[in-house]
Amino acid sequence: MNPKTFLETAHPETLAIRTGQLPTDEQSHSEPIFCTSSFIFKSAEEAAGRFSGEIPGNIYARFTNPTVRVFEERLASLEQGEACVATASGMAAILTTALAFLQAGDELVASKSLFGTTLVLFEKYLKKFGVIVHLVAQNDQSAWKKAVNQRTKLLFIETPSNPLNEIADIAFLSDLAHSVSAKLVVDNCFCTPVLQQPLLLGADLVIHSATKYLDGQGRSIGGAIVGSQSLIKEAHQVIRTCGPSMSPFNAWIALKGLETLPLRMIKHSENAQALAEWLECQPSIKKVFYAGLTSHPQYALAQKQQVNGSGILSFEVEGGRSAAWSIVNNVNMISITANLGDTKSTITHPATTTHGRLSAEDKQAAGITEGLLRISVGLEHIEDMKRDLTIAFQQAFKG
Ligand SMILES: *Cc1c(COP(=O)(O)O)cnc(C)c1O
Repeated sequence: MNPKTFLETAHPETLAIRTGQLPTDEQSHSEPIFCTSSFIFKSAEEAAGRFSGEIPGNIYARFTNPTVRVFEERLASLEQGEACVATASGMAAILTTALAFLQAGDELVASKSLFGTTLVLFEKYLKKFGVIVHLVAQNDQSAWKKAVNQRTKLLFIETPSNPLNEIADIAFLSDLAHSVSAKLVVDNCFCTPVLQQPLLLGADLVIHSATKYLDGQGRSIGGAIVGSQSLIKEAHQVIRTCGPSMSPFNAWIALKGLETLPLRMIKHSENAQALAEWLECQPSIKKVFYAGLTSHPQYALAQKQQVNGSGILSFEVEGGRSAAWSIVNNVNMISITANLGDTKSTITHPATTTHGRLSAEDKQAAGITEGLLRISVGLEHIEDMKRDLTIAFQQAFKG
């Protein structure tokens, strides 16, 4: 049996480590980094054949690089997609998707609860090129139905949402998209393919910020798009022409990150679940937002489409901004940074950082209150996280 055939029926833990392994003449065991901008041809005939596509092989690293290809193949196998194209960042993946599948006059329907920069891309830049953008509430199915029409080309969601863990029904939205021949795009950054595989639920394209859990250790920026052979070919043409390519070094970091992704996602979720349950029992905590809690209004849907709650939770404290800031300022270990999906736990105050650009009204509508804090739960020992927060709570709520 050849090794590729063997892997066809392998488990995700195995695919994360073995897919796309690159045999080289040097017989290196770890995947080599091909730090080269171009590739040589043996003859004029071969050069012509590579450029015309008749002879497969590398040409130029803006659109062909073996290290980048390992990352792409590995991520595609985990998402159970036919193909993948890597991009310079998560934002580059979203921009590439827009350039490939939208033109002036087309309509895009997106959730209001998207990553802030994604909303700016849609509302400031896509609108500038004549794309009509409709934003609807993540969970309002009738609003989605009303917003979709024959000119709709893409539906775009992120589930669970940041920071409130709202769940979008992927199967429902993919049926809705297909009813008007549109495509459903799912940003799968929070769950990763280990916990949720949107393509199997009917989505057409999956977006990743490799910067988050895929790397998982906060070392580099990257992104990817996964989907069918024909859709990814379109996206790859955009990368080739417009240039938001992933560097081989960043691809290497991300592909090594993928090797431990299954283990990490299980542990991130286990820690987040324990921390969420503990937070629910602490005084001065008004509410905990985490899809793994039975108190979550969409707990049943979350159980249906994702394996567990993933590693991001948020909670609202009594005392508004001053109490929330006091907690942030009194943690000893948890990092104050807007990044997420890192082995290191991080804490942010969304109302004045990630969601600071929203108007007071929009914050209110989105549930981003002044007392809300988000934690990306890392892989430190759970008792140390609780201890860190207990000390910070004592400072914030003393007297
Ligand atoms: C961070 C993030 C992005 C953007 O990714 P970058 O790699 O920072 O460009 C997109 N979507 C979600 C959900 C994110 O968290």
